[in-house]
Amino acid sequence: MYEAIVIGAGQAGLSASYHLQRLGINHVVLDANPAPGGAWQHRWDSLSMDDVHGVADLPDGPAPGKSSDRANTVLPTWFGDYEREHDLPVVRPVRVDAVTNDGELLVVHAGNRTWTTRTIINATGTWSRPFVPFYPGASTFQGEQLHTVDYPGPEHFHGKRVLVVGGGASAVQFLGEIAPVTDTVWVTRRPPVWRDGFDSELGRKAISLVEERVRRGLPPASVVSVTGLALRPQERLAESLGAYERRPMFARIEPDGVRWASGEFEKVDVILWATGFRPAVDHLAPLGLRGSEGGIALRTTGHDVQTAVTAAQDPRIQLVGYGPSASTIGGNRAGRAAATAVARFLEAQAA
Ligand SMILES: Cc1cc2nc3c(=O)[nH]c(=O)nc-3n(C[C@H](O)[C@H](O)[C@H](O)COP(=O)(O)OP(=O)(O)OC[C@H]3O[C@@H](n4cnc5c(N)ncnc54)[C@H](O)[C@@H]3O)c2cc1C
Repeated sequence: MYEAIVIGAGQAGLSASYHLQRLGINHVVLDANPAPGGAWQHRWDSLSMDDVHGVADLPDGPAPGKSSDRANTVLPTWFGDYEREHDLPVVRPVRVDAVTNDGELLVVHAGNRTWTTRTIINATGTWSRPFVPFYPGASTFQGEQLHTVDYPGPEHFHGKRVLVVGGGASAVQFLGEIAPVTDTVWVTRRPPVWRDGFDSELGRKAISLVEERVRRGLPPASVVSVTGLALRPQERLAESLGAYERRPMFARIEPDGVRWASGEFEKVDVILWATGFRPAVDHLAPLGLRGSEGGIALRTTGHDVQTAVTAAQDPRIQLVGYGPSASTIGGNRAGRAAATAVARFLEAQAA
């Protein structure tokens, strides 16, 4: 029986485990991946350390710097070293199927294995729940449909006409790579909002907006969706080729392309859905944390942004890397906030 179980060993889960360790809280980290690295180990090969938007340090673990090396090897190596150096109790591969109540205790189920705990820190990220919106005719399309999680790198698209769907940072990056190689079309639901730079005030505002949503129990919006988009030097060639002249969403998908409500048709060979992710929290469903607004409401433990971690319905459950803390820096801060909340909960129980 543990005082805490952390589910997921990405940036948020490792930060939580580090702080639990420092607080002397008996815990284990259950991670579905076969190796260290969280979602980073699955990111596409052409994503270099120069391409990532910025990876925050782990607590007492400086992040690797910019380089042309692959993010999907550099960051998992760093996570693995960090787990060993801090002797974090990570068990893998363990995919948690469900968390259930057993009186005051919580039971974590993975296949035929179970663990019992007083508290949970959920740090399961979003990568395992890719989101593809519904459009009529999608199943009739005879070309290739890929999601961000399948992105095979630009060379794969040589000689094909590629439709990129989505208004986030991934779509911008994919177009930057694919447009110099082949024909692209970009569609987004809303016109993109471009920004010149990024300052900490803009970041803070964006995070506060997302935090406000999860406090109200709404499904979280991505932090990036609030900050706007920027083109980097590596995307300037695609820009000069007109790749960022966006079109509105089509109305339906046909066997060899997409059609707008106006009747206009575009023949394409590939649809690349850069349409984001949803929080991977299905295993928490038996706890009934989701409210009528469709999200899991969180309440803050402090006055700072990114510290909304405690489930409003159940103080035994902390969610990190969720909503306002769904970034590497947010995951870090939330990990500390969650460990502190667990310590407070256990103290209150013991009193
Ligand atoms: C393409 C892309 C690029 C990004 N680039 C940046 C960036 O440059 N900077 C930045 O700050 N943020 C970036 N982000 C946001 C990024 O997702 C977070 O910053 C961070 O990596 C997420 O960390 P995490 O710990 O929350 O989740 P993850 O890294 O996804 O880790 C979650 C872990 O939980 C495990 N897990 C999931 N479900 C279960 C289960 N049921 N049972 C057990 N284990 C489970 C997974 O196997 C995984 O190991 C990016 C996101 C995407 C999609």
